[in-house]
Amino acid sequence: MAGIYIHVPFCKQACNYCNFHFSTNLGLQNDFTAALLKEIELRITYLGYETVETIYFGGGTPSLLPVSAIRNILDAVYRNFSISADPEISLESNPDDMDSSRLKAWKEAGINRLSIGVQSFFNDDLIWMNRAHNAQQAVMAVEQAVNAGFENFSLDLIYGLPALTDEKWNENLRKAISLNPSHISCYALTIEAKTALYKMIQSKKTEDVQPEKQARQFLTGIQLLESAGYEHYEISSFAKPGKRSRHNSSYWQSKKYLGIGPAAHSFDGTGRQWNISNNALYIKSLMAGNLNMESENLLPGDLLNEYIMTSLRTIEGLDLQKVSDQFGNEKSLSLENMAKKYIQSKKIERKKEKLILTNSGKLFADGIAASLFF
Ligand code: SF4
Repeated sequence: MAGIYIHVPFCKQACNYCNFHFSTNLGLQNDFTAALLKEIELRITYLGYETVETIYFGGGTPSLLPVSAIRNILDAVYRNFSISADPEISLESNPDDMDSSRLKAWKEAGINRLSIGVQSFFNDDLIWMNRAHNAQQAVMAVEQAVNAGFENFSLDLIYGLPALTDEKWNENLRKAISLNPSHISCYALTIEAKTALYKMIQSKKTEDVQPEKQARQFLTGIQLLESAGYEHYEISSFAKPGKRSRHNSSYWQSKKYLGIGPAAHSFDGTGRQWNISNNALYIKSLMAGNLNMESENLLPGDLLNEYIMTSLRTIEGLDLQKVSDQFGNEKSLSLENMAKKYIQSKKIERKKEKLILTNSGKLFADGIAASLFF
């Protein structure tokens, strides 16, 4: 089983913290769609004809694309790949793009899961982030999605903003829970180089993030969401029973995926490919019938390190038996040894053959994983 990721590289305006690949030049949308349709045809062999069980429109802002383009892209995917009988087809959408007619058309086109970029229910935070929607639009978007028959939807929230007090964060969580989404993703605000936010902090126009506050808000998020019936199945992801994101889970399970569109990454089990991060050059290459990408082969050590990094982020944890089976018993024993100090400091819990991060360990997930690398 495999997945397909479709990167839609357009946004109405730039959120101040964002370092994803996108352009605010919406004039290229039609050419982009034509190029993407060509890329689909050129990449039919990449997944080795495995059945595709998840399709994910990410971005950028896929909800900005005309519905006809979404329909054409899905038709092309169905024509060129073998799709399972019960695929998860997700679309990232922003509240300001969500009205009842568009939601109905997405449903008819086959979208069966929405990931809604709410981020906060406070207008001052949304303005500070330079989001294109307000709090009222976020609530209305969710209500309209439910009315249109979307039962499976996720809300994205961001914590750790300088002006986000603990009280406001708790209120955001409570408000999100009251809308009854099947899934909630909570992301820590990170300061990425070259973003507007980075420059604002450098020039002291805004405060920097406070790691202690972020840690506190992360732990409150776990507490409130778990007590509301959400399983914390990955560092940033919470789901009602049976409602985990199948697409994102497939990344953490090292399944194959094909990424199409500018800047999209692909993985076929042994190597990675990534498309050029430039909309105009992407379109130009595809229109001339050429793929424009780079690639790398992954050595066993790279694959093991990736497994350490991704598995520790999940509720299943790192399986020493799997490491032994796939990479050799020596590696498994060595990992077991290296993990001892984290077990002693209660950052990792050992459950049979599994090493699982505790909540306090999750605060240092990336650092702990990196310290276990080969
Ligand atoms: S809408 Fe999403 S992709 Fe676009 S700038 Fe904002 S955070 Fe980035």
